[in-house]
Amino acid sequence: MKLALSDTKAAYEWFRPRKDRRFWAKYIWKDFIPPKYSFICWLAIRGRLTTRDRITWEEIDASCGLCSREDENVDHLFFRCRETWKVWDNVRDWIGLRRRPTTIKSAIKWLVRDRRPSRIVHVAERIALIATVYYIWLARNAAIMDGKRYDNVWIVFQIKIVVYSILYAKFPQEQVMQQCA
Ligand SMILES: [Zn+2]
Repeated sequence: MKLALSDTKAAYEWFRPRKDRRFWAKYIWKDFIPPKYSFICWLAIRGRLTTRDRITWEEIDASCGLCSREDENVDHLFFRCRETWKVWDNVRDWIGLRRRPTTIKSAIKWLVRDRRPSRIVHVAERIALIATVYYIWLARNAAIMDGKRYDNVWIVFQIKIVVYSILYAKFPQEQVMQQCA
């Protein structure tokens, strides 16, 4: 069978996004990361979290549940919100991310390309990123649905607990203590 040029183009368009999706999936879905964390990160990357900009079926207050200063969407909530910055700044300091990420994808690309850290630190960074997205979403939900405010220090502490508990299950204790103190 001979493929027409338009078929080839269609095939290319079909495969390209699949490849793209596989790249993010490979980074996010790992056997050592509990699926509840991966799931929220996966939804955020695909723009499928029910942030307020996506709620079109009823009239709601569209402002960000954490800062109330701007309208809520994925970009704002995770990367432009002043409340979330406080969490990122702590996590960045801890894992040595030089810049504040602007999107989840760019943060992943940066971590994948960074060849400096050892494997164990790479794993720690990966979990930290995914857990940060998860806890920001959790804090947002708590603020909007229950009127509860999670302290940023508490959020960062939870993220560290997730990272360390996975590292200790996966690597020898001395290695974790040496490289991820
Ligand atoms: Zn905000």
